[in-house]
Amino acid sequence: MEYVEVSPFISFWHQSMIIGAIVAATAGIVWYLLYQIRVSSIADYHLKYEFINANEIRNLKVMAYCFGVATGMLINLYASDKMKDVQVWFFARLAMSIFGGTLVGYVGHLIFEYYYPTILHKKLLKWRYTPRRNPKTGNTMRLLSEEEEDVHLESGMQAEENMFSIDYDVWVDEKTGDVKIEKYRGHLEALQCNNCGFYTMKVQREEITKPATAEESGELVKYYECTYCKSNRATAFNLSNKQTESDYKNLKYKFRQNKDIDLVKLEIHSTVKGKKQYEFQNIEEAQKFLTEFDFDKSDKRHEV
Ligand SMILES: [Zn+2]
Repeated sequence: MEYVEVSPFISFWHQSMIIGAIVAATAGIVWYLLYQIRVSSIADYHLKYEFINANEIRNLKVMAYCFGVATGMLINLYASDKMKDVQVWFFARLAMSIFGGTLVGYVGHLIFEYYYPTILHKKLLKWRYTPRRNPKTGNTMRLLSEEEEDVHLESGMQAEENMFSIDYDVWVDEKTGDVKIEKYRGHLEALQCNNCGFYTMKVQREEITKPATAEESGELVKYYECTYCKSNRATAFNLSNKQTESDYKNLKYKFRQNKDIDLVKLEIHSTVKGKKQYEFQNIEEAQKFLTEFDFDKSDKRHEV
């Protein structure tokens, strides 16, 4: 058999693919590590929460795209020892590599878009509810309970069309009375969709149904849409005027119990009527439900 020399283009092509695959895979890993370093350099839990919420999914997607490019380049090395010149097989392999690389990138995209938010949500809850320390005294602070049902607006926002409400977490140092207020922009946070179960429910718009006055709290309705299954939900919130430290300093402290609980599941068995399952957002709701519970007339809203 005659020895056929490998064409300079083919040999250059294969060389480039090896180097390219290494560069792309390394870039993905480095991108991820740099992101983790930035996260761990943020000491304040609230800032850490906001940074992770705004950046984590985007950065993980970039990593997935890098791996997609690396995969595409690796596929271009398939059977490279047998290829001497540019022929049909070269283009067939090129098409396969584009397909394979896109697939890896796209699957990564889907995972981080729809599946990963569930994991992210748990991570964010941890940073939101880890007890804060008073920087002045080092004392552990506690989270007030009053604010969890209330949303707030930045001053002057009631007049605006595109307002976005804010959740306030108010941490109190019981020994000194120091107050730390943390603002969470509710529309950036993804909630669990009742329909598909993914954490892909986001605020689309908000409407003030009753403005808050100096004496009375108002009402604001948030309209949510799931980015995955497109189902909708509307929920009403109290719109509070309390905004400053002094508003909270004089409050009689009532602290939030079990603040990191995300879901309460109840299963009630009846000897004759079988069993029913219910889900609640918090313990108070579940307790209220139990005190009024009647197997035959039970509330369908919480049934699963
Ligand atoms: Zn959904």
